[in-house]
Amino acid sequence: MDTYMARDVLASRSSVTDKTLRSTRNKLYPLQAWYCIGLFIFIIAVFQSISFFHSKFAGRRKTFNDSDPELASVHRRRSFSWRRIPLGLVNAYRVISFRWTLEFGKTYTLNMAEVFVTIAYIIFLFLWAFINTTDLEGHAFDITYWSNRSGMLAASQFPLITALGTKNNIVSLITGISYDKLNYVHRMMSRVVFTLLWVHGGSEVVRNAPFQPYFAEQWLVWGVVSMIAFSILCIVSLRPVRAQAYELFFYVHFSMVLTFLIGAYYHTKQFTVAYWIYPCFVIWGLDRLIRFIRLVMFNHSYFGFGSGSTMDATAELLSDDFVRLRFHRPSHFHWTPGQTAYLIMPSVSRLPFEAHPFTIASFNSKLFDAPKEQNPTSEKYTQISIAEGSLGSSAPFWKELVFFINVREGFTARLKDAALKGDKVKVFVDGPYGPSPNLSSYDTSVLIAGGSGVSYTLPVLLDIIERVRNGQSSCSRVVFIWSIRSVDHIHWIDEVLIRALRLAPPSLSISIHIHVTGAPSTIETLPQSYSPKDEKRARDDSGSDIMELQDGKVVEINNDSLFAIESVKLAHERPDLWAILRDEVKATTGRMSVSVCGSQSIARSVRGALRFPVSSPLSVANGGPSVTLHIESFGYA
Ligand SMILES: Cc1cc2nc3c(=O)[nH]c(=O)nc-3n(C[C@H](O)[C@H](O)[C@H](O)COP(=O)(O)OP(=O)(O)OC[C@H]3O[C@@H](n4cnc5c(N)ncnc54)[C@H](O)[C@@H]3O)c2cc1C
Repeated sequence: MDTYMARDVLASRSSVTDKTLRSTRNKLYPLQAWYCIGLFIFIIAVFQSISFFHSKFAGRRKTFNDSDPELASVHRRRSFSWRRIPLGLVNAYRVISFRWTLEFGKTYTLNMAEVFVTIAYIIFLFLWAFINTTDLEGHAFDITYWSNRSGMLAASQFPLITALGTKNNIVSLITGISYDKLNYVHRMMSRVVFTLLWVHGGSEVVRNAPFQPYFAEQWLVWGVVSMIAFSILCIVSLRPVRAQAYELFFYVHFSMVLTFLIGAYYHTKQFTVAYWIYPCFVIWGLDRLIRFIRLVMFNHSYFGFGSGSTMDATAELLSDDFVRLRFHRPSHFHWTPGQTAYLIMPSVSRLPFEAHPFTIASFNSKLFDAPKEQNPTSEKYTQISIAEGSLGSSAPFWKELVFFINVREGFTARLKDAALKGDKVKVFVDGPYGPSPNLSSYDTSVLIAGGSGVSYTLPVLLDIIERVRNGQSSCSRVVFIWSIRSVDHIHWIDEVLIRALRLAPPSLSISIHIHVTGAPSTIETLPQSYSPKDEKRARDDSGSDIMELQDGKVVEINNDSLFAIESVKLAHERPDLWAILRDEVKATTGRMSVSVCGSQSIARSVRGALRFPVSSPLSVANGGPSVTLHIESFGYA
C-alpha cells in the first residue's frame, strides 16, 4: 500500500495517470487477495497436518512419555501444572471457536469460528475493494477507482467458490476439512461476493447514467444476464428453500450457475479478465469427471463392463420412519468409519441424477466376522452363538454396504414405499466422501448418536476396538450413547454390538447406554433405568428374563441378549448429556474425544456441556482432559 501512496504523491510529476493507476490496481489487487487467501489456507493446512500426525503417532506411543504433557498426565495424579497451560489455551480456543454459538431460531446455529471467518472475509474483500481509491486530484473514494475493481475482485473469487462447492475439492484435500463443512464457506463467500457484484453493478449504473446508449453492447447484456442468474441463485440457496424444496434448489442451482458463469465469461472477456472465470468450468468439470469415473468403477456391471457386482439393494422397513438399505459392496470399494456415500436410485428418485448422501453404517474390516477360532483372545466369544449376519443381514458384515435411512418427505419417502413393496432396488454408489475420525490417540472417546446417527458412531466404535486389539490405539475407555424412539431399534445393531463387546480386549472399558425416548405408550413398563442386575426383571417359562411393554412388545434378556452384558445399560429417558459428560471429564485425564451425530438439540446439549467450566483452561491445567468435539450434522448446516 505504501508503494502506491508514494506513487500517488509522485504521480502528478510523472506520466502516471488515474487511468493507468486504476487499471494496474484492478489487476493487481485480485491477485494480492488470492495470495492472502492462499496463505490462510496454507496455515490451516499446516495446523491440520500437525494435528493429524500428532493423532496418528501419539496413538502408537503406548509407553509413558513425559515429553508429551497430554499423555503423561494419564499416568499422573491430577494436579496443577504450568506445563499444561498451553494445552489449556488450546482448549479455550476450541471452546470459544466451536462451542460458543449464535442461535437463530431452533435450527440455525453459527459457531464463533464461522462468525469470525464471515466477518474477516467481508472486511478483507471490501478493504481490498476500497483502499487507495483517492484519485490524483485528491478526491477520496473516487467511483472510477472502486467500481470496476469490485467487479474484478468479485470475479477473482469464483474459482475458490466453485472449488468449495464441489465434493472432490482441493481445499478439503489439503486442509482435511470435510466438503460438507466447507459448504458453509462456499455459501458465505457467494453471498459476500454477490453483494460486491451489486456494488459493481450499481456503481456502473450511476457512472454511466443515462444507460440507454450501452444497451446494445455485449458486455452489458451478459453482465445483466449473469446478475439476474446470480440473484435467483442466492434466493433459492436460502436455508428455508433448501430445507423445504431441496430438489428445486438443486436444479435451479445447477441451471443458474451455468447461466451465471457463461454470462460472466463473456462479460469479463470484453475486458480481457476471463481468466478468473474459465477455471470454474475446469474445476466443476474435473469434479464431475472424478465422480463419473468413480461411478463407472464401482458400478461397472450396469455400464456393461465385465461381470461386476450387481448392486440390487434390499430395502427393509425397520419402523415407520426408518429404512435399512443394504447391498453387496463393490469389490474394490473401500471406506473408513464415518464416511458417506451418495446413492442414486433411478427407480426411486423422481428426477434423473438425484443423489442422496448417507453414512455407511457397516465396517470395512473382517475382524467382526472372523470365525470363532480366529479370535483366541476372547474367551467369552466362544461361549455365545451368533448368527452369521450382522446389522440384520445374512451376509458377512464387511461384504455389505449398510445404511440406516430416516424417512423424510421426498426421496426417502419413496424409498419407504419401495421397502413396503419388498422390491429390490437398483442402486448406483458414488463415494466414499468425507474424512474419517482417527481416535487412536484419545484415552477416552464418547460417542453420542440419535436414531440413524448410529450409522456414524457404530463403525467408529468398532474401529476403536479393532485398533486397541491391534495395539494401534491408546484408548482405554469408550462410552457409547444411543437415543432411540422405540426399544425395537436396538435390533438394528445388537448382534454386531455383542460381537464387538466380546472381542474388546480387557484393557478397554466400554460403557453402552441405550436411551429409549419414544412415546410413553410403547415403553411405559420399562424400568426407569435398567441393568442386568435389576430386580424388576420377570422370568418367562423358557427361562429367559423378559420385560413386557404395554403394547405387547417384549424385550428378551437371555444369555445371548445385548442386555445380558454387564456394560450395557438401558433407560427410558433422554440421556442427561450434561451430567454424563461432566462425569466423564472428571474421571478422565489425558485426551478425550466426543463425537456426536444426531438431532440439533443433541448437538446443542453437547456443545453446551463442553463449554467452560467443564472444559476450561484451568481444568486442563489441573490435570483434566483436553477435550475435542466433533459434530456430524447430516446436513448442510
Ligand atoms: C454427509 C451427510 C450424511 C448423511 N447421512 C445420513 C444417514 O446416514 N442417514 C439418514 O437418514 N440421513 C443422512 N443424511 C441426510 C439425508 O441425506 C437426507 O435426509 C436425505 O437426502 C433426504 O432426502 P428426501 O428427499 O427424503 O428429503 P426431503 O424430505 O425433501 O428434505 C428433508 C431434508 O433433507 C435435505 N435434503 C434433501 N435432499 C438432499 C440431498 N440430496 N442432499 C442433502 N440433503 C438433502 C433437505 O434440505 C431437507 O432439509 C446425511 C446427509 C449428509 C449431508
